Amino acid sequence: MNQLYNFSAGPAVLPKKVLQQARDEMLNWHGSGMSVMEMSHRGKAFISIVEELKHDLCELIDIPSNYKILFLQGGASSQFAMVPMNLLRGKTNADYIHTGQWSEKAIKEAKRYCSVNIAASSKDAQCTYIPSQNQWQLSSDAAFVHITTNETIGGVEFHWTPELASENETPLVADMSSNMLSRPFDVTKYGLIYAGAQKNLGPAGLVLVIIREDLVGSALPGTPSLFDYQTHIDNDSMYNTPPTYAIYIMGLVLKWLKDQGGLAAIEQTNIQKAALLYDYIDTSTFYHCPVAPQDRSRMNVPFTLRDPALDNAFLEQAAANGLVQLKGHRSVGGMRASLYNAMPVEGVIQLVEFMKEFANTYD
Ligand SMILES: *Cc1c(COP(=O)(O)O)cnc(C)c1O
Repeated sequence: MNQLYNFSAGPAVLPKKVLQQARDEMLNWHGSGMSVMEMSHRGKAFISIVEELKHDLCELIDIPSNYKILFLQGGASSQFAMVPMNLLRGKTNADYIHTGQWSEKAIKEAKRYCSVNIAASSKDAQCTYIPSQNQWQLSSDAAFVHITTNETIGGVEFHWTPELASENETPLVADMSSNMLSRPFDVTKYGLIYAGAQKNLGPAGLVLVIIREDLVGSALPGTPSLFDYQTHIDNDSMYNTPPTYAIYIMGLVLKWLKDQGGLAAIEQTNIQKAALLYDYIDTSTFYHCPVAPQDRSRMNVPFTLRDPALDNAFLEQAAANGLVQLKGHRSVGGMRASLYNAMPVEGVIQLVEFMKEFANTYD
């Protein structure tokens, strides 16, 4: 089989080494005589996998001890509800920054539980930029401020961390699903971080939550136990059976990340990959990226062809060249190349080469 490069937005490419290791350990994990899939989540072997994963995560991102790491199910979408259910803490209002379709979904869900103040929105420009903080109109009584650090569909990314006034102690909540662990960041700037695993961390079925301890413990009355962070903290994410195999694979991904040199190193590679593609798009008149240059995502690069009638030919020929899953989200059309951590630089080089050839042929 020829080398294939998978530009899917998620579930997405995983490091080949991780898949090979999972294959090698599939039937007999570390001499246990069984697959991780078959293990009790309360047994020694699996507990050691979880402990090592937490340890590696703390090495990669420096998580202070007053933060809890949770491995939950229900995807990032479950957090759209769990965040207001748990963090309102007697308040009735939350601030959301609207930067695209994922923040919009978070807003829609939050409205079931509280009144939502859209403190800033880039809807006026089809969500092609991130509103700078001096444009935000935060409310004084908000229980939290919610941002989406990378909009997977629109391709905009926060390249800065909002600073919230410390006197009102409003926690910042971030959906980091699609740029988690793609760059270093300061956990202490956030009250809660969540990320679905299938973009940058591992397989689908697992959502990682990092939460500041003091925010937990006053969920809305009637909140199901499974939707109360306290339940999961009290039980070390083992209240019920967690997605064990996905957790194991995420552990392998973190080891791989450490081998790459950690987050500062992977960030440099991600900058390089994104620059290769954006620089070419910007010099071409055949391709176009609608996103404001300063807010362009390193993870998801949306672009259009000058003539949309060529979209299908582009996708077919790209696939014939081993470059797959480049079709843009059904809601926006065009193309989207996702360049997560596991996408090798070589994949982006090949994509740009192909784009040049295609443009030369059809220009
Ligand atoms: C994919 C994605 C989600 C939804 O994840 P699910 O696991 O499908 O619930 C939410 N937010 C962002 C930013 C995403 O990229």
